[in-house]
Amino acid sequence: MSDTTLKNGVNALVEQIDSRVASFFNSCVHCGMCADACLFYTETGDPKYTPIHKLEPMRRVWKRNFTFWGKLAAMVGLSKPITDEELKEWEPLVYDSCTLCARCPMVGPVGNDIAYMISKERAGMVAAGHAPPGLKGATVRAVEIGSPMGATWKTVQAQIRHTEEDTGLKIPVDQQGADYMAIMSGMETVNFPEYLGSLARIFKQAGVSWTLCSDAVEATNSGIQIGSPDIAAELVQRIVDGAEKLGVKYVISPECGHAYMAIRWSGPNLIGRPYKFKVIHILELLDQLREEGRLRTEGMEDERVTFHDPCQLVRRGGVLEQPRRLLKMVASNYVDMPDPGVWNWCCGGGGGVSANERADALRIKVFSRKKAQLDAVGGVDKLVTSCSNCRIVMEDAVDAYNLNFKIFGMAETIAAHLPSDTKTAESGESSS
Ligand code: SF4
Ligand code: SF4
Repeated sequence: MSDTTLKNGVNALVEQIDSRVASFFNSCVHCGMCADACLFYTETGDPKYTPIHKLEPMRRVWKRNFTFWGKLAAMVGLSKPITDEELKEWEPLVYDSCTLCARCPMVGPVGNDIAYMISKERAGMVAAGHAPPGLKGATVRAVEIGSPMGATWKTVQAQIRHTEEDTGLKIPVDQQGADYMAIMSGMETVNFPEYLGSLARIFKQAGVSWTLCSDAVEATNSGIQIGSPDIAAELVQRIVDGAEKLGVKYVISPECGHAYMAIRWSGPNLIGRPYKFKVIHILELLDQLREEGRLRTEGMEDERVTFHDPCQLVRRGGVLEQPRRLLKMVASNYVDMPDPGVWNWCCGGGGGVSANERADALRIKVFSRKKAQLDAVGGVDKLVTSCSNCRIVMEDAVDAYNLNFKIFGMAETIAAHLPSDTKTAESGESSS
Protein backbone atom coordinates (compact mmCIF):
# COMPACT_ATOMS: atom_id res chain seq x y z
CA MET A 1 0.00 0.00 0.00
CA SER A 2 1.54 3.30 -1.09
CA ASP A 3 1.21 6.51 0.90
CA THR A 4 -0.62 7.99 -2.11
CA THR A 5 -3.32 5.31 -2.01
CA LEU A 6 -3.80 5.79 1.73
CA LYS A 7 -3.99 9.55 1.16
CA ASN A 8 -6.59 9.00 -1.58
CA GLY A 9 -8.63 6.89 0.83
CA VAL A 10 -8.46 9.42 3.65
CA ASN A 11 -9.27 12.25 1.22
CA ALA A 12 -12.24 10.24 -0.05
CA LEU A 13 -13.44 9.76 3.53
CA VAL A 14 -13.12 13.50 4.15
CA GLU A 15 -15.08 14.20 0.92
CA GLN A 16 -17.86 11.80 1.96
CA ILE A 17 -18.45 13.59 5.27
CA ASP A 18 -21.44 15.72 4.35
CA SER A 19 -23.71 17.59 6.74
CA ARG A 20 -25.80 14.44 7.38
CA VAL A 21 -22.78 12.35 8.34
CA ALA A 22 -21.34 15.15 10.48
CA SER A 23 -24.60 15.69 12.34
CA PHE A 24 -25.01 11.93 12.89
CA PHE A 25 -21.54 11.66 14.43
CA ASN A 26 -22.15 14.77 16.45
CA SER A 27 -25.45 13.52 17.83
CA CYS A 28 -24.41 9.94 18.71
CA VAL A 29 -24.75 9.51 22.47
CA HIS A 30 -22.89 6.16 22.48
CA CYS A 31 -25.86 4.35 23.97
CA GLY A 32 -25.18 1.16 21.98
CA MET A 33 -28.86 0.58 21.25
CA CYS A 34 -28.06 0.04 17.56
CA ALA A 35 -26.30 -3.24 18.48
CA ASP A 36 -29.56 -5.08 19.19
CA ALA A 37 -30.96 -4.06 15.79
CA CYS A 38 -28.10 -5.66 13.85
CA LEU A 39 -28.21 -9.37 13.09
CA PHE A 40 -24.42 -9.54 12.94
CA TYR A 41 -24.34 -8.54 16.60
CA THR A 42 -27.41 -10.44 17.82
CA GLU A 43 -26.35 -13.69 16.18
CA THR A 44 -22.69 -13.61 17.23
CA GLY A 45 -22.74 -11.59 20.46
CA ASP A 46 -19.46 -10.03 19.33
CA PRO A 47 -19.28 -6.31 20.25
CA LYS A 48 -17.14 -5.56 17.20
CA TYR A 49 -20.35 -5.93 15.16
CA THR A 50 -22.06 -3.03 16.95
CA PRO A 51 -23.15 -0.80 14.03
CA ILE A 52 -21.62 2.44 15.27
CA HIS A 53 -18.29 0.66 15.88
CA LYS A 54 -18.11 -0.22 12.15
CA LEU A 55 -17.84 3.52 11.51
CA GLU A 56 -14.83 4.11 13.75
CA PRO A 57 -12.32 5.00 10.97
CA MET A 58 -14.72 7.53 9.50
CA ARG A 59 -15.57 8.89 12.94
CA ARG A 60 -11.87 9.50 13.60
CA VAL A 61 -11.45 11.26 10.27
CA TRP A 62 -14.52 13.39 11.05
CA LYS A 63 -13.25 14.28 14.50
CA ARG A 64 -9.75 15.16 13.29
CA ASN A 65 -10.88 17.24 10.31
CA PHE A 66 -14.21 18.73 11.27
CA THR A 67 -14.28 19.40 15.03
CA PHE A 68 -12.53 22.10 16.98
CA TRP A 69 -11.07 19.75 19.61
CA GLY A 70 -10.09 17.20 16.96
CA LYS A 71 -8.25 19.78 14.90
CA LEU A 72 -6.53 21.10 18.01
CA ALA A 73 -5.51 17.60 19.11
CA ALA A 74 -4.10 16.91 15.63
CA MET A 75 -2.18 20.19 15.67
CA VAL A 76 -0.43 19.46 18.97
CA GLY A 77 0.17 15.82 18.11
CA LEU A 78 -2.36 14.36 20.55
CA SER A 79 -4.28 12.39 17.91
CA LYS A 80 -2.83 10.06 15.32
CA PRO A 81 -3.96 9.99 11.69
CA ILE A 82 -5.68 6.84 10.49
CA THR A 83 -3.24 4.21 9.21
CA ASP A 84 -3.45 1.71 6.40
CA GLU A 85 -3.31 -1.14 8.94
CA GLU A 86 -6.40 0.27 10.66
CA LEU A 87 -8.32 0.54 7.39
CA LYS A 88 -7.30 -3.03 6.57
CA GLU A 89 -8.49 -4.21 9.98
CA TRP A 90 -11.87 -2.52 9.49
CA GLU A 91 -12.45 -3.74 5.91
CA PRO A 92 -14.34 -6.92 7.00
CA LEU A 93 -16.47 -4.89 9.40
CA VAL A 94 -17.42 -2.43 6.69
CA TYR A 95 -18.09 -4.96 3.91
CA ASP A 96 -18.61 -8.47 5.40
CA SER A 97 -20.74 -7.60 8.39
CA CYS A 98 -23.05 -4.92 7.05
CA THR A 99 -25.76 -5.59 4.50
CA LEU A 100 -26.83 -1.91 4.43
CA CYS A 101 -30.15 -3.29 5.66
CA ALA A 102 -30.99 -0.02 7.46
CA ARG A 103 -32.53 -1.74 10.47
CA CYS A 104 -30.19 0.00 12.93
CA PRO A 105 -31.43 3.50 12.05
CA MET A 106 -34.88 2.35 13.20
CA VAL A 107 -33.70 2.22 16.81
CA GLY A 108 -31.67 4.55 18.91
CA PRO A 109 -32.55 7.90 20.37
CA VAL A 110 -31.29 10.17 17.59
CA GLY A 111 -32.15 8.35 14.34
CA ASN A 112 -28.60 8.03 13.02
CA ASP A 113 -28.69 6.54 9.51
CA ILE A 114 -25.79 4.18 9.98
CA ALA A 115 -26.44 2.34 6.69
CA TYR A 116 -26.04 5.65 4.83
CA MET A 117 -22.83 6.35 6.73
CA ILE A 118 -21.42 2.89 6.02
CA SER A 119 -22.09 3.44 2.29
CA LYS A 120 -20.09 6.64 2.61
CA GLU A 121 -17.33 4.91 4.56
CA ARG A 122 -17.05 2.30 1.82
CA ALA A 123 -16.14 5.08 -0.63
CA GLY A 124 -13.07 5.84 1.47
CA MET A 125 -12.22 2.18 1.93
CA VAL A 126 -12.34 1.39 -1.78
CA ALA A 127 -10.32 4.51 -2.65
CA ALA A 128 -7.69 3.25 -0.19
CA GLY A 129 -7.67 -0.12 -1.96
CA HIS A 130 -9.57 -1.94 0.79
CA ALA A 131 -12.55 -3.76 -0.68
CA PRO A 132 -13.26 -7.50 -0.82
CA PRO A 133 -11.88 -9.27 -3.92
CA GLY A 134 -15.30 -10.81 -4.73
CA LEU A 135 -16.99 -7.43 -4.79
CA LYS A 136 -14.14 -5.89 -6.79
CA GLY A 137 -14.49 -8.65 -9.40
CA ALA A 138 -18.26 -8.17 -9.61
CA THR A 139 -17.80 -4.42 -10.06
CA VAL A 140 -15.21 -4.85 -12.82
CA ARG A 141 -17.55 -7.24 -14.67
CA ALA A 142 -20.46 -4.81 -14.28
CA VAL A 143 -18.43 -1.99 -15.83
CA GLU A 144 -16.65 -4.00 -18.52
CA ILE A 145 -19.26 -6.49 -19.69
CA GLY A 146 -22.44 -5.01 -18.29
CA SER A 147 -23.27 -7.52 -15.56
CA PRO A 148 -21.64 -8.49 -12.24
CA MET A 149 -22.57 -12.11 -12.91
CA GLY A 150 -21.38 -12.09 -16.51
CA ALA A 151 -24.95 -12.17 -17.87
CA THR A 152 -24.35 -10.33 -21.15
CA TRP A 153 -27.02 -9.45 -23.73
CA LYS A 154 -26.16 -12.76 -25.46
CA THR A 155 -27.12 -14.59 -22.26
CA VAL A 156 -30.37 -12.64 -22.12
CA GLN A 157 -31.07 -13.45 -25.78
CA ALA A 158 -30.68 -17.17 -25.02
CA GLN A 159 -33.14 -16.76 -22.14
CA ILE A 160 -35.56 -14.89 -24.40
CA ARG A 161 -35.47 -17.79 -26.89
CA HIS A 162 -36.18 -20.36 -24.16
CA THR A 163 -38.94 -18.23 -22.67
CA GLU A 164 -40.61 -17.76 -26.05
CA GLU A 165 -40.50 -21.53 -26.61
CA ASP A 166 -41.91 -22.23 -23.12
CA THR A 167 -44.69 -19.65 -23.14
CA GLY A 168 -45.49 -19.31 -26.84
CA LEU A 169 -45.31 -15.55 -26.29
CA LYS A 170 -43.11 -13.06 -28.08
CA ILE A 171 -40.78 -11.14 -25.72
CA PRO A 172 -40.75 -7.53 -26.93
CA VAL A 173 -37.28 -6.02 -27.38
CA ASP A 174 -36.39 -2.38 -28.15
CA GLN A 175 -40.03 -1.41 -28.72
CA GLN A 176 -40.02 2.35 -29.22
CA GLY A 177 -42.74 4.10 -27.21
CA ALA A 178 -43.72 1.11 -25.04
CA ASP A 179 -45.24 2.15 -21.70
CA TYR A 180 -42.94 0.03 -19.54
CA MET A 181 -39.29 -1.05 -19.86
CA ALA A 182 -38.37 -4.08 -17.76
CA ILE A 183 -34.86 -4.50 -16.42
CA MET A 184 -33.60 -7.64 -14.68
CA SER A 185 -30.97 -8.52 -12.14
CA GLY A 186 -28.24 -10.82 -13.48
CA MET A 187 -29.47 -13.34 -10.90
CA GLU A 188 -32.84 -13.48 -12.63
CA THR A 189 -31.13 -13.94 -15.97
CA VAL A 190 -28.84 -16.69 -14.71
CA ASN A 191 -30.63 -18.36 -11.76
CA PHE A 192 -34.33 -17.60 -12.11
CA PRO A 193 -35.31 -17.51 -15.81
CA GLU A 194 -38.91 -18.11 -14.72
CA TYR A 195 -39.09 -14.38 -13.88
CA LEU A 196 -39.06 -13.31 -17.52
CA GLY A 197 -41.68 -15.91 -18.49
CA SER A 198 -43.87 -14.82 -15.58
CA LEU A 199 -43.71 -11.19 -16.70
CA ALA A 200 -44.59 -12.18 -20.27
CA ARG A 201 -47.63 -14.17 -19.16
CA ILE A 202 -48.90 -11.63 -16.62
CA PHE A 203 -48.43 -8.67 -18.96
CA LYS A 204 -50.17 -10.52 -21.78
CA GLN A 205 -53.18 -11.12 -19.55
CA ALA A 206 -53.22 -7.55 -18.25
CA GLY A 207 -52.60 -5.94 -21.65
CA VAL A 208 -49.43 -4.15 -20.52
CA SER A 209 -47.35 -2.48 -23.23
CA TRP A 210 -43.76 -3.36 -22.33
CA THR A 211 -40.29 -4.04 -23.69
CA LEU A 212 -36.77 -5.08 -22.82
CA CYS A 213 -33.93 -2.83 -23.96
CA SER A 214 -30.89 -4.48 -25.55
CA ASP A 215 -28.66 -1.66 -24.27
CA ALA A 216 -29.92 -1.69 -20.68
CA VAL A 217 -31.10 -4.92 -19.16
CA GLU A 218 -28.94 -5.22 -16.02
CA ALA A 219 -30.61 -3.69 -12.98
CA THR A 220 -28.08 -4.32 -10.22
CA ASN A 221 -25.55 -1.70 -9.21
CA SER A 222 -22.21 -2.95 -7.89
CA GLY A 223 -20.99 0.65 -7.72
CA ILE A 224 -23.36 1.34 -4.84
CA GLN A 225 -22.39 -1.87 -3.07
CA ILE A 226 -18.64 -1.33 -3.27
CA GLY A 227 -18.98 2.38 -2.51
CA SER A 228 -17.95 4.03 -5.79
CA PRO A 229 -20.31 6.91 -6.67
CA ASP A 230 -18.68 7.28 -10.13
CA ILE A 231 -19.29 3.65 -11.07
CA ALA A 232 -22.76 3.74 -9.50
CA ALA A 233 -23.61 6.77 -11.65
CA GLU A 234 -22.27 5.11 -14.81
CA LEU A 235 -24.44 2.02 -14.22
CA VAL A 236 -27.54 4.13 -13.54
CA GLN A 237 -26.84 6.21 -16.65
CA ARG A 238 -26.93 3.10 -18.86
CA ILE A 239 -30.51 2.38 -17.76
CA VAL A 240 -31.51 6.04 -18.07
CA ASP A 241 -30.06 6.24 -21.61
CA GLY A 242 -31.87 3.05 -22.65
CA ALA A 243 -35.21 4.16 -21.22
CA GLU A 244 -35.00 7.67 -22.62
CA LYS A 245 -33.92 6.39 -26.04
CA LEU A 246 -37.01 4.17 -26.19
CA GLY A 247 -39.22 6.92 -24.76
CA VAL A 248 -40.87 4.65 -22.17
CA LYS A 249 -43.06 6.07 -19.42
CA TYR A 250 -41.87 3.69 -16.70
CA VAL A 251 -38.89 1.50 -15.87
CA ILE A 252 -39.90 -1.61 -13.93
CA SER A 253 -37.44 -2.40 -11.17
CA PRO A 254 -37.20 -6.21 -10.88
CA GLU A 255 -37.29 -8.56 -7.92
CA CYS A 256 -34.06 -7.18 -6.47
CA GLY A 257 -33.94 -4.96 -3.41
CA HIS A 258 -30.78 -2.96 -3.95
CA ALA A 259 -31.50 -2.48 -7.68
CA TYR A 260 -34.72 -0.75 -6.67
CA MET A 261 -32.95 1.49 -4.20
CA ALA A 262 -30.27 2.27 -6.79
CA ILE A 263 -32.51 3.13 -9.73
CA ARG A 264 -35.41 4.67 -7.87
CA TRP A 265 -33.95 6.56 -4.94
CA SER A 266 -30.21 7.03 -5.48
CA GLY A 267 -30.17 7.28 -9.28
CA PRO A 268 -31.29 10.87 -9.87
CA ASN A 269 -28.83 12.14 -7.24
CA LEU A 270 -26.04 10.05 -8.73
CA ILE A 271 -26.52 11.37 -12.29
CA GLY A 272 -27.42 14.86 -11.12
CA ARG A 273 -30.83 15.26 -12.77
CA PRO A 274 -34.37 13.90 -12.67
CA TYR A 275 -35.39 11.16 -15.12
CA LYS A 276 -37.79 11.62 -18.03
CA PHE A 277 -39.62 8.49 -16.86
CA LYS A 278 -40.86 7.05 -13.59
CA VAL A 279 -39.58 3.98 -11.77
CA ILE A 280 -41.99 1.40 -10.40
CA HIS A 281 -41.17 -1.83 -8.60
CA ILE A 282 -42.67 -4.98 -10.08
CA LEU A 283 -44.63 -5.53 -6.84
CA GLU A 284 -46.13 -2.05 -7.11
CA LEU A 285 -47.08 -2.69 -10.73
CA LEU A 286 -48.64 -6.10 -9.98
CA ASP A 287 -50.63 -4.61 -7.13
CA GLN A 288 -51.77 -1.74 -9.34
CA LEU A 289 -52.92 -4.23 -12.00
CA ARG A 290 -54.76 -6.15 -9.26
CA GLU A 291 -56.49 -2.98 -8.12
CA GLU A 292 -57.49 -2.12 -11.68
CA GLY A 293 -58.96 -5.60 -12.15
CA ARG A 294 -56.42 -6.42 -14.84
CA LEU A 295 -54.66 -9.12 -12.83
CA ARG A 296 -56.88 -12.14 -12.35
CA THR A 297 -55.89 -15.40 -10.69
CA GLU A 298 -57.57 -18.72 -10.04
CA GLY A 299 -57.08 -21.31 -7.32
CA MET A 300 -55.83 -20.92 -3.75
CA GLU A 301 -52.87 -22.70 -2.18
CA ASP A 302 -53.58 -24.12 1.24
CA GLU A 303 -49.92 -24.63 2.15
CA ARG A 304 -48.47 -22.41 4.89
CA VAL A 305 -46.96 -19.41 3.10
CA THR A 306 -44.94 -16.47 4.40
CA PHE A 307 -43.21 -13.46 2.87
CA HIS A 308 -39.65 -12.28 3.45
CA ASP A 309 -39.53 -8.47 3.13
CA PRO A 310 -36.38 -7.41 1.25
CA CYS A 311 -34.77 -4.64 3.34
CA GLN A 312 -34.38 -2.09 0.56
CA LEU A 313 -37.97 -2.53 -0.56
CA VAL A 314 -39.65 -2.29 2.78
CA ARG A 315 -37.44 0.04 4.80
CA ARG A 316 -36.09 2.29 2.06
CA GLY A 317 -38.94 1.97 -0.42
CA GLY A 318 -42.11 1.55 1.62
CA VAL A 319 -43.30 -1.43 -0.44
CA LEU A 320 -45.04 -3.07 2.47
CA GLU A 321 -48.68 -3.98 1.86
CA GLN A 322 -48.44 -4.81 -1.87
CA PRO A 323 -46.87 -8.26 -1.43
CA ARG A 324 -49.36 -9.21 1.26
CA ARG A 325 -52.34 -8.16 -0.86
CA LEU A 326 -50.93 -10.12 -3.80
CA LEU A 327 -50.25 -13.25 -1.77
CA LYS A 328 -53.71 -13.19 -0.29
CA MET A 329 -55.03 -13.57 -3.86
CA VAL A 330 -53.48 -17.04 -4.10
CA ALA A 331 -52.66 -18.30 -0.58
CA SER A 332 -55.38 -19.13 1.93
CA ASN A 333 -52.91 -19.95 4.70
CA TYR A 334 -50.69 -16.86 4.71
CA VAL A 335 -48.80 -16.06 7.89
CA ASP A 336 -46.51 -13.16 8.76
CA MET A 337 -43.30 -13.94 10.64
CA PRO A 338 -42.65 -11.94 13.82
CA ASP A 339 -41.07 -8.54 13.08
CA PRO A 340 -42.74 -8.23 9.68
CA GLY A 341 -42.57 -5.27 7.34
CA VAL A 342 -40.28 -2.42 8.31
CA TRP A 343 -38.90 -4.40 11.26
CA ASN A 344 -37.98 -7.42 9.18
CA TRP A 345 -34.55 -8.97 9.59
CA CYS A 346 -32.17 -9.13 6.63
CA CYS A 347 -31.44 -12.44 4.88
CA GLY A 348 -27.77 -11.75 5.70
CA GLY A 349 -26.52 -11.30 2.14
CA GLY A 350 -27.57 -7.82 1.00
CA GLY A 351 -25.33 -4.81 0.40
CA GLY A 352 -22.76 -6.83 -1.54
CA VAL A 353 -22.20 -9.43 1.21
CA SER A 354 -23.37 -12.26 -1.04
CA ALA A 355 -20.82 -11.24 -3.71
CA ASN A 356 -18.05 -11.44 -1.10
CA GLU A 357 -17.03 -15.08 -0.67
CA ARG A 358 -14.92 -14.17 2.34
CA ALA A 359 -18.17 -13.46 4.22
CA ASP A 360 -19.87 -16.78 3.38
CA ALA A 361 -19.49 -18.42 6.81
CA LEU A 362 -20.64 -15.31 8.68
CA ARG A 363 -23.60 -14.89 6.29
CA ILE A 364 -24.72 -18.46 6.97
CA LYS A 365 -24.26 -17.99 10.73
CA VAL A 366 -26.45 -14.89 10.91
CA PHE A 367 -29.25 -16.62 9.01
CA SER A 368 -30.06 -18.07 12.45
CA ARG A 369 -32.09 -14.86 12.95
CA LYS A 370 -34.32 -15.69 9.97
CA LYS A 371 -34.57 -19.27 11.19
CA ALA A 372 -35.75 -17.99 14.59
CA GLN A 373 -38.43 -15.91 12.84
CA LEU A 374 -39.59 -19.00 10.96
CA ASP A 375 -39.46 -21.21 14.05
CA ALA A 376 -41.64 -18.70 15.90
CA VAL A 377 -44.51 -19.35 13.50
CA GLY A 378 -44.00 -23.11 13.63
CA GLY A 379 -42.35 -23.30 10.21
CA VAL A 380 -43.79 -22.81 6.73
CA ASP A 381 -44.14 -24.85 3.56
CA LYS A 382 -43.30 -22.01 1.25
CA LEU A 383 -41.47 -18.71 1.55
CA VAL A 384 -42.05 -16.05 -1.08
CA THR A 385 -39.82 -13.04 -1.52
CA SER A 386 -39.28 -10.33 -4.06
CA CYS A 387 -35.51 -10.14 -4.31
CA SER A 388 -33.47 -12.69 -6.24
CA ASN A 389 -30.44 -11.96 -4.05
CA CYS A 390 -32.42 -12.71 -0.86
CA ARG A 391 -33.68 -15.83 -2.59
CA ILE A 392 -30.22 -17.16 -3.48
CA VAL A 393 -28.88 -16.33 -0.02
CA MET A 394 -31.80 -18.04 1.72
CA GLU A 395 -31.69 -21.10 -0.58
CA ASP A 396 -28.05 -21.48 0.39
CA ALA A 397 -28.87 -21.15 4.09
CA VAL A 398 -31.86 -23.50 3.89
CA ASP A 399 -29.44 -26.17 2.64
CA ALA A 400 -26.88 -25.33 5.33
CA TYR A 401 -29.52 -25.50 8.12
CA ASN A 402 -31.22 -28.53 6.58
CA LEU A 403 -34.62 -26.79 6.54
CA ASN A 404 -37.60 -28.11 4.72
CA PHE A 405 -39.41 -25.47 2.72
CA LYS A 406 -39.19 -24.02 -0.76
CA ILE A 407 -38.53 -20.42 -1.81
CA PHE A 408 -40.25 -18.67 -4.70
CA GLY A 409 -40.34 -15.24 -6.32
CA MET A 410 -43.54 -13.19 -6.29
CA ALA A 411 -44.03 -12.87 -10.06
CA GLU A 412 -43.78 -16.63 -10.61
CA THR A 413 -46.10 -17.27 -7.63
CA ILE A 414 -48.76 -15.06 -9.22
CA ALA A 415 -48.11 -16.36 -12.75
CA ALA A 416 -48.69 -19.92 -11.53
CA HIS A 417 -52.29 -18.91 -10.77
CA LEU A 418 -53.18 -17.14 -13.99
CA PRO A 419 -56.44 -18.50 -15.36
CA SER A 420 -55.84 -21.08 -18.07
CA ASP A 421 -58.32 -19.32 -20.36
CA THR A 422 -56.57 -15.98 -19.92
CA LYS A 423 -57.70 -13.22 -22.24
CA THR A 424 -55.78 -10.03 -22.80
CA ALA A 425 -57.30 -7.02 -21.09
CA GLU A 426 -57.20 -4.86 -24.19
CA SER A 427 -57.92 -7.16 -27.12
CA GLY A 428 -59.75 -10.05 -25.54
CA GLU A 429 -57.54 -12.42 -27.53
CA SER A 430 -56.32 -15.70 -26.11
CA SER A 431 -52.86 -15.35 -24.59
CA SER A 432 -51.54 -18.68 -25.70
S1 SF4 B 1 -27.34 -1.49 8.27
FE1 SF4 B 1 -28.06 -3.52 8.98
S2 SF4 B 1 -26.28 -4.88 8.80
FE2 SF4 B 1 -25.51 -2.73 8.66
S3 SF4 B 1 -24.92 -2.22 10.74
FE3 SF4 B 1 -27.07 -1.55 10.49
S4 SF4 B 1 -28.34 -3.29 11.18
FE4 SF4 B 1 -26.24 -4.05 10.89
S1 SF4 C 1 -28.10 3.85 18.69
FE1 SF4 C 1 -27.55 5.81 17.73
S2 SF4 C 1 -26.92 7.14 19.43
FE2 SF4 C 1 -26.88 5.02 20.21
S3 SF4 C 1 -24.73 4.32 19.83
FE3 SF4 C 1 -25.93 3.67 18.02
S4 SF4 C 1 -25.63 5.38 16.59
FE4 SF4 C 1 -25.04 6.17 18.60
